Amino acid sequence: MLKKFLRHIAQTSDAPIGLEVSHAEGPFIYTTDGKRFTDFISGIAVSSLGHRHPRVVDAIHEQVDKHLHVMVYGEFVQKPQVDFAELLMSYLPDKLEQIYLVNSGTEATEGALKLAKKYTGRTKLIGFKNSYHGDTHGSLSVTGRNVYRDPYLPLLPDVHFLDFNSGENLNLIDEQTTAVIMEPIQGEGGIIPAQKKWLKEIRKRCDEAGALLIFDEIQSGFGRTGSLFAFQEYEVVPDILCMAKAMGGGMPIGGFVSSKEIFQSFKYDPPLNHVTTFGGHPVSAAAAFANLKELLDGDYLQRALDIEKTVKKNLKGKGIVEVRGKGAMLGLQLENWELTKNVVEECFDKGILLGWTLHSNTLVRLAPPLIIEDELLNEVLDTILKAIENNL
Ligand code: PMP
Repeated sequence: MLKKFLRHIAQTSDAPIGLEVSHAEGPFIYTTDGKRFTDFISGIAVSSLGHRHPRVVDAIHEQVDKHLHVMVYGEFVQKPQVDFAELLMSYLPDKLEQIYLVNSGTEATEGALKLAKKYTGRTKLIGFKNSYHGDTHGSLSVTGRNVYRDPYLPLLPDVHFLDFNSGENLNLIDEQTTAVIMEPIQGEGGIIPAQKKWLKEIRKRCDEAGALLIFDEIQSGFGRTGSLFAFQEYEVVPDILCMAKAMGGGMPIGGFVSSKEIFQSFKYDPPLNHVTTFGGHPVSAAAAFANLKELLDGDYLQRALDIEKTVKKNLKGKGIVEVRGKGAMLGLQLENWELTKNVVEECFDKGILLGWTLHSNTLVRLAPPLIIEDELLNEVLDTILKAIENNL
């Protein structure tokens, strides 16, 4: 199977992990050769309730028996979409009142950028160094890492990148600015939370300039950081909120949320100026509704905070620079690249899936599912510590 995979499935690197998946359940992924891996990255912040959460799987089955795709997005009333949107909005600030449903993170970013442009009538964009917003052209245009951008130039014009958590050059947010787009906790940049005071300053600059503030919570959303969305801990409300990844409990779905007033601009000049065939697919929307209900009914948000405490308490010692991040969106900063590589490889050999973040080669991504129990969590942390010791 690996041979056929390498031959027929387009590759994204010379070194795919190449696990042959048989099935997955809870915190575990099982391979066709009978091995069990603890998924300590949740499919990159997707399976927050573990793999195949029963409530999500039941909702999928139920929806499959009713209907699959029936019409392009936005035309027909589809209950799973409406149920999900109603529940989500009841947990968001008043001005975040409608969602536009898409299929993925990058589509949420694309939609948010287009919406901001259409609403403000401006074109200048502000992003941040080391950010990541997706790999389609618009998203890549606001992604702050030249090594990924350069092969695809020219991208969108008039995009400016500021330093994250720095008060410098905030005057670039001006009356020509469409929007500032940012992750309240940078994910691929190396799990870097924004400072509260600084985020408030950005909000203030946007208000003064009439620019929209877009939060990309595609990675940090749906409980991963200990609140439903990371921004809710910051006392700063964005004009547009992007989400995906953990939203569908393992099914592909994304969305961007804004006010009714801002969304008006998608309806006119011309009508249908931003459409999608599959956005908010009913099966994915049903999964998203079940996933959100489970997340809100259980004590998962508190669990994320407990995980943070345990990980930060345990992962200390030689070779470790720091553990940073919030809730179960954590990064283990090690002393050098070689150690990082060896630790990830040794843990893999011992059945633990860890990973890198895209823009850092000394940071181990720790993003366990929120259903992980203490015994397994401690086991994984012990293995990581031993791997560090063995490779110093
Ligand atoms: N924004 C952020 C913050 C992300 O972490 C990601 C995915 N890593 C994306 C956007 C893109 O999401 P997708 O891969 O679903 O297009």
